[in-house]
Amino acid sequence: MFDVIIAANGVSNRIGFDKLSCNIGKITVLQRTVNAFRGIPDIDKIIVVGDPAPIEGVEFVKGGASREESVFRGLQEAKSDYVLVHDGARPFVSRVLIERVMQGALTYGGAVPCLPVNDSLRISENGRYGGKAERSSCVAVQTPQGFETESLLRAFREAGELASYTDESEIYSRFVAPCVFVEGEQENKKITYPYDLFGLNARAGCGFDVHRFTEGKELKLCGVTIPYEYGLLAHSDGDAPLHALMDALLSAVGERDIGVLFPDDDPRYENADSALLLEEVMRRVRQANAAVNSVSVTVIAQAPRLSPYIEKMRLNIAALLDISPDKVAVAATTTENLGLIGEKKALAAMATVVLV
Ligand code: MG
Repeated sequence: MFDVIIAANGVSNRIGFDKLSCNIGKITVLQRTVNAFRGIPDIDKIIVVGDPAPIEGVEFVKGGASREESVFRGLQEAKSDYVLVHDGARPFVSRVLIERVMQGALTYGGAVPCLPVNDSLRISENGRYGGKAERSSCVAVQTPQGFETESLLRAFREAGELASYTDESEIYSRFVAPCVFVEGEQENKKITYPYDLFGLNARAGCGFDVHRFTEGKELKLCGVTIPYEYGLLAHSDGDAPLHALMDALLSAVGERDIGVLFPDDDPRYENADSALLLEEVMRRVRQANAAVNSVSVTVIAQAPRLSPYIEKMRLNIAALLDISPDKVAVAATTTENLGLIGEKKALAAMATVVLV
């Protein structure tokens, strides 16, 4: 009953790289968009207009010079009574929304999802205030847009210069009848700017470390020397929070932990400065095409009292990772005198990171 036309021929001008071939998890943006339409009863075939990497079970049609010229080419390959036209760069469309638009198209002939506009709208004339646009009478239009195929084809044939239209709702409404608006979805956003992808590529990692206190060693936490009668027993300098942080970073990029990376029987790491080991870990993070967005570190110790050093530790982590201090949190807590840490025999640390 419905064919789906997915517009995938756009040049990603505003993003600067091919957003449709970027990965969300293990599949591309476009594959995820296509998958959103699979398995829905009454959808006959999926036509992708453009020249991306092949996708199984999908018909490909060469794109045109503008979006609407591309859609027109796809439309001519449609065989079903109704069509859905969708942006390749809207991978998060839900089945509920697709079926709502299908129902709307069946009922009214043309149905388009939209959302209310939240920002105030002003008319700009040469960069100056040129009047007010009434927000309550405006909506932001999304896709998929659903239409009766023959009517939309007729509208496209009558429309003339297709490049002057931005979507099908405009053409259909002008040459057939005003399409009906159905409720859209906030989640159904169009990937337009690099930051639209950041959240999609975010990776979280967590790490934990514990070391026993020992005499005759300097106490170093987050690279900061803390005056105390004990240090931490370790092959390296024993900086537990930096170890937890390194494990968090490595886990976020899917690598093995620092025990594997810097074995404690390797003489190269004897008394090693953990800040230098962190440099190697960061090299691997960059190699995985990731960047640190934010870090949270908690030190768990009954003694010494760490509150005077928290800020210094926070700033030092920010410097080591080369990120803004407001993206770093350091906290300290005790175990209420419970267990080995409570008996001041050991210190533990945990870290959580978000990479983008
Ligand atoms: Mg350790």
